[in-house]
Amino acid sequence: MDQPPLNTAPAGQRIVDGNFSQHLTRRVRERLAELRAFSQINPPVIPYLCAWQQHDKVIWYEFAGEGFCSLLGCDCQGLAEAMREAIVDRRVYRYVDPEHRVEEKITTRDELQGAWRGLRQEVERSGSLEAIYKVRLSEDKHLWLKDQASIELFAEDGVCLSTGFLTDVSKEMELKDLFEKIGYIDELTKLPKRSILDRMLEVNIGNFQRSNIADFVMMMIDVDHFKQVNDNHGHLAGDYVLANLAEVMTATTRKQDEIGRYGGEEFYGFTIGDIELGINFAERLRKNVERSRFVYQGQNIPVTISIGLVAASELGEPRNLTADQLIFTADKRLYAAKHAGRNQVASK
Ligand code: GH3
Ligand code: MG
Ligand code: MG
Repeated sequence: MDQPPLNTAPAGQRIVDGNFSQHLTRRVRERLAELRAFSQINPPVIPYLCAWQQHDKVIWYEFAGEGFCSLLGCDCQGLAEAMREAIVDRRVYRYVDPEHRVEEKITTRDELQGAWRGLRQEVERSGSLEAIYKVRLSEDKHLWLKDQASIELFAEDGVCLSTGFLTDVSKEMELKDLFEKIGYIDELTKLPKRSILDRMLEVNIGNFQRSNIADFVMMMIDVDHFKQVNDNHGHLAGDYVLANLAEVMTATTRKQDEIGRYGGEEFYGFTIGDIELGINFAERLRKNVERSRFVYQGQNIPVTISIGLVAASELGEPRNLTADQLIFTADKRLYAAKHAGRNQVASK
């Protein structure tokens, strides 16, 4: 199965020297000339040209830009094999409508072994490929390579040509892994977690103390009588409300605002600006939630929120300002809003 399908001619010659249609050999010659010329400018990406015969697992490289072979410690002939050995997983990112959320699909090395036929058919059909490969270089060294390629099928030869570019996206992927490790996103609501609030407050207290920003507002948001939602409609209905509430609130944010899940049915809000801007943001959140319909299994669940907020500039000497002080004050005001009858914003 893993035997090369053609001859063992050096890279760039298998198709040209092989017994293929003029159409295909002409295209390979053109591509080789283009890729060689492109390589002359020392591009920050690695160009390659690879090919496979339809329904055959084996691929081979007709051209590989400088760096590709040295990265994997092999020559162009051994590239396909070395790449197959080194791949840890393959990740594909795509937008899911209608939420315009990015979905990540990870296929592990073992799954890839079994899935190659389907993946091949998919790229042959779509004519393009975009994936990120996690590649193992040594015991403790990994690299992430983003592969972007366009695929051409030469039906009379039964051969597919893939002209692609590899980009090292290790820095971006390591950052993403770090965020996932520290638990950046809450599973249920898809909002940033409390750890992000702590970090945001720390950074913005610093900015405020150095007068980089004139003021900022922090708010605590709590769902009114949420226990009743669980009691009357069940815990799953409660989860549904929390997830949808998060969506309504996120849709209300402007560029300078942030919403996160503090814990349970409590959320935090954050905005750069003075107390007036903060009140304005809080009121828009409150009204949008009140106006939204939350329907779970045909049942309408009325939802309102109460909000307590505080501006950094209210709390005396900037140099003595702490995150605890902000959270404590916002929380105290939240309870004032609850006492005053709920579904309201308290800034005093
Ligand atoms: P108040 O207006 O005073 O805030 O009343 P409340 O009923 O919202 O207050 P309370 O703090 O007594 O109740 C909060 C409830 O939220 C209790 C808890 O079971 C529920 N809750 C917390 N986290 C989740 C969750 O992730 N999913 C669901 N379904 N319920 C949750
Ligand atoms: Mg609560
Ligand atoms: Mg509550």
